[in-house]
Amino acid sequence: MTPERVRDRALGAYLGLACGDALGATVEFLTRREIAHGYGVHREIIGGGWLRLRPGQVTDDTEMSLHLGRAILAAQGWDLTMVADEFVQWWRGHPVDIGNTTRRGIGRYINSGSFAGPVAESDAGNGAAMRNLPVVLATLGDDAAFERQTLEQAHITHNNPLSDAATLALGHMVRALIHGGMIRDVRDIANRLAADHRVFRFSPYRGRSTAYIVDTVQTVLHFYFETDGIENCIVETVNQGGDADTTGAIAGMLAGATYGASQLPPRWLRRLDPAVKSEIEAQTAGLLGLSGMPLPSAV
Ligand SMILES: [Mg+2]
Repeated sequence: MTPERVRDRALGAYLGLACGDALGATVEFLTRREIAHGYGVHREIIGGGWLRLRPGQVTDDTEMSLHLGRAILAAQGWDLTMVADEFVQWWRGHPVDIGNTTRRGIGRYINSGSFAGPVAESDAGNGAAMRNLPVVLATLGDDAAFERQTLEQAHITHNNPLSDAATLALGHMVRALIHGGMIRDVRDIANRLAADHRVFRFSPYRGRSTAYIVDTVQTVLHFYFETDGIENCIVETVNQGGDADTTGAIAGMLAGATYGASQLPPRWLRRLDPAVKSEIEAQTAGLLGLSGMPLPSAV
């Protein structure tokens, strides 16, 4: 992998996440049938949805990722207090959307200062997995740091073995891809996840696309392996409905790391909130700078 291709895949993952979030939010909580009736195939970033978004506006998936990235860049490394304080700052800014488990976890940190609640069955939502990409990018050169930081940021709001397994597996997939891996490497990691935790088996696909981490991962993996490009992967995923902003975000992250930022539809990138797009570009460069990976020479 040349440094330029590393950057293309890393940036693809981050911009893919934001595009999937912005596209999917329009159809969040709809069923596949309702989307087909209302939109045909939903493939344009037009805002709206139950959150009444502006076209190109992103939601908690991208926002929490950006706040996590800010904490890592401000610390020039890992400082869990700074991470938790960034989540608090995000929450105090009245985000357009916030999950119940995330709200409860941030509230616990504010009240007690503790970085994790007890292990809880009710914490098996997708909120930790959807925001972990900045950790993945900053720790590309260090397996142990990747695993430790992933679990630490996750447990601020979600302390659950299924959430942990999925967040780590998705991170390992993105890492493998940015290191030059292919779809078959993602399949190996997916198969290992399903072998370790049979509940994640995604074939045959059951069609459930809720915020339960198992449903989310099954949906993302099903459409990721069924499609052969970024646009189709994200479009097919969000048209399943349900928690479509988050399934779209995670599918966009995986497909972006597979095919690269250069394959993202230019019309989506033009629609994406310009402040979000430019912060993603700056963070990707900064996080790769911390990762120990060789960087593209300055242009
Ligand atoms: Mg969201």
